[in-house]
Amino acid sequence: MSIELSITESQPDAETSRWRDLHDRVMMPNYDPLNMVPAHGQGSWLWDEAGNRYLDFAGGIAVSALGHANSELVEALTGQARKLWHVSNILTNQPALELARKLIDATFADKVFFANSGSEANEAALKLARRVAQDRHAGDKYEILAFENAFHGRTFFTVSVGGQSKYSQGFGPNPAGISHLPYNHSHAVLEWFEKHGDRVCAVILEPCQGEGGVIPATREFVDTLRTCCDRYNALLVFDEVQTGMGRSGSLYLHEKLGVVPDILTTAKALGCGFPISAVLTIDGVAEHLAVGTHGSTFGGNPMACAVAGKVIDIINTPEMLNNVEQRSRQLMAGLENISQRYHLFTEIRGIGLLLGCVLMEPYQDKARDLMTLCNESGLLALVAGPNVLRLAPPLNISESEIAEGLARMEEAVARFVKL
Ligand SMILES: *Cc1c(COP(=O)(O)O)cnc(C)c1O
Repeated sequence: MSIELSITESQPDAETSRWRDLHDRVMMPNYDPLNMVPAHGQGSWLWDEAGNRYLDFAGGIAVSALGHANSELVEALTGQARKLWHVSNILTNQPALELARKLIDATFADKVFFANSGSEANEAALKLARRVAQDRHAGDKYEILAFENAFHGRTFFTVSVGGQSKYSQGFGPNPAGISHLPYNHSHAVLEWFEKHGDRVCAVILEPCQGEGGVIPATREFVDTLRTCCDRYNALLVFDEVQTGMGRSGSLYLHEKLGVVPDILTTAKALGCGFPISAVLTIDGVAEHLAVGTHGSTFGGNPMACAVAGKVIDIINTPEMLNNVEQRSRQLMAGLENISQRYHLFTEIRGIGLLLGCVLMEPYQDKARDLMTLCNESGLLALVAGPNVLRLAPPLNISESEIAEGLARMEEAVARFVKL
């Protein structure tokens, strides 16, 4: 079916709505994007077709950690684009090897596997955990323990491991051998392991739940999981797809929690918008992913790896991580201030520059309304469930940009409380 494209004839504002209308005609209906259609970006700012400017505290869902059109990343990408785009994994390539070495040098890991998305990294991590258990123990040691409200991706395995049944139901029989417990409930974990521990091959969690409401894990909880995994020969998998790459003020959040996982997955900000993900692990686990057991056509492609190599150079520095801590304190304090004056949030929680503002009782289920008003005030924000406004500004954002974002947010809040 052909669709008429006469968009350029219209006026700027009408043009934006024409693009949005075209979306509804040509795209499958699984997304419901905002009306604003961005045209270009620079640093912490985005512009739409009509020339309106937005401060971007959404960052493409915690992806654009160095803002838009970062000149060093543009250089890394275009430099590689002129040399070599793609070879597949029947050949290796230098950017992939250099990136692997950087990730290993910066973390607990000895080995790396590259994929293209958070879902794919988690899919690989879970398959690896099942494989390790099968090789070492045989029999029925295949149970995966995950947590309620967790989000691990949208492939059928990862969405089944995720803890929101509304995402995993309605597609026929789910993969078996997956259990869910409440997050941050050590007692429930200890009890459950006593009954089922021998069958467990892996425990997977987000060290701060992102989509589930921006809920940081407690130290006690991750300690308990580490202890149980050690006692019952299960692997501890940290899904740091959203929390990783400096978002918490450490390169990876597990460093702050004082617990070392056996497997860690990282994606989102790893390529700052160029698709790439990685699974990190130690030698004794990695060896089970023997030749032919798993793979990816695009995983570890030279363009993505050249960008991610530059991203890690820029993010993994004391200056950048320090900026995350300082801007986090500034943003938290400003949000607390707004909350007190408008009686808006019960709690502002999160890690570093991943913050969740929990709406008070009178505003239940209205997070998306507040997000839309923020957008109208020139501030892009996110939600995490129906009651939590989520903010994920770039890690290199300036003090004055945070202040500007708070001013725009207050403008939106003043309208929101009168709705
Ligand atoms: C976004 C996200 C994923 C899925 O990543 P995709 O790139 O969308 O596949 C998995 N886990 C967590 C914690 C995430 O935030």
